[in-house]
Amino acid sequence: MLLQLRPQTPATELAALRRDLSAAGLAAAPVSFFAAPVWRLAPASDGLPAAGPDRSALDALLHRHPCVAAVFSGDFELASRPLRPQGTRVRVATPGGDLEIGGDEMVVIAGPCSVESWEQIRDTALAAAAAGARLLRGGAFKPRTSTYSFQGLGRRGLELLAAAGRHAGLGVVTEVMAPEDVSLVADYADLLQVGARNMQNFPLLKRLGEQRKPVLLKRGAGASIAEWLAAAEYLLARGNDQVVLCERGIRTFETYTRNTLDIGAVAAAKELVHLPVLVDPSHATGRRSLIAAASRAAVAAGADGLCVEVHIHPEDSISDREQAISPEMFAALMSSLRPLAAACGRAVAPARAAAVAHPRPAPALGPAPNAASDPASNETPDAALVPALAVPALPL
Ligand code: PEP
Ligand code: MN
Repeated sequence: MLLQLRPQTPATELAALRRDLSAAGLAAAPVSFFAAPVWRLAPASDGLPAAGPDRSALDALLHRHPCVAAVFSGDFELASRPLRPQGTRVRVATPGGDLEIGGDEMVVIAGPCSVESWEQIRDTALAAAAAGARLLRGGAFKPRTSTYSFQGLGRRGLELLAAAGRHAGLGVVTEVMAPEDVSLVADYADLLQVGARNMQNFPLLKRLGEQRKPVLLKRGAGASIAEWLAAAEYLLARGNDQVVLCERGIRTFETYTRNTLDIGAVAAAKELVHLPVLVDPSHATGRRSLIAAASRAAVAAGADGLCVEVHIHPEDSISDREQAISPEMFAALMSSLRPLAAACGRAVAPARAAAVAHPRPAPALGPAPNAASDPASNETPDAALVPALAVPALPL
């Protein structure tokens, strides 16, 4: 349970409230990330969660303290919209500068399903940046239905992704699947993705809540809106309010599309919680011909951005080939979104002059600028795939 307190409440009144709560067996801890004071209540001693006064006794206690402005309870109380009615702006620090998700600009993330090679990710990054994408995506640790499918390049994929992002002036987003990989992936990624299959991987959510990089939380294909928001609460409850939700389609009886884009969930999530909401039209439809229409629906529904799978050669995609769009399709999509976003009171970043793919094959790889060495890893960069050569970051 959360208590929202009136700003500028005298310390004596706060102390009196704390005393009464303590007498009722409850400890109050301030929540650091809200501007107005918010206290979280928990049983004062290690007891069962049900310990403490019953609800009517607690209500009576709170009524005696006019400094309590509002009470929130439930599975996503920290994420409740009224606690931050203006919405959370999630700050993503990238090598090319900071950006915000949840502000006036819709942020578009683009890139391949999987990082496959230096040329693939570099050229896709340059094309994505030229069309107005703000972040580059690409999976290095891939959740695949079949254990025989390509599982991603792992650490080498992270290195290539981060290098391509620097090369194109884009921050990078990639999936982390296991709690023990969080610090490795966080050394390279600017935004850490939790995939649909891991939405309720609670040890993973707990670990991500304890670190400070922003998190992109995809909705599970079989998760209700309430379960998705409760999963986000795991992150907030551990101190990380830099959480972006992503609707990526749910499993229904429909088979023509890979999933069913739940456009109503975008509006519902924005109504219920203060976190930004993106839409992934690629996994939602599974068909490249439907991605533009689904993206436009997302803009109209009030999404704060998109996450789109783009591949320099879609037909060669190792994973999710049917939904990969070409750079040309992506550029056309972005052009079609701008007037629509403007009509909805939002903006989409302009296209920029296309950067020419660097003729040299690859950047110097190795630990990311902020990466600690990882003695546990026995993967070394494949020299044939990743020749060492420094490539300067392009200016934004
Ligand atoms: C992905 O983003 O490549 C992915 C696997 O998505 P999801 O977790 O939504 O299936
Ligand atoms: Mn994919």
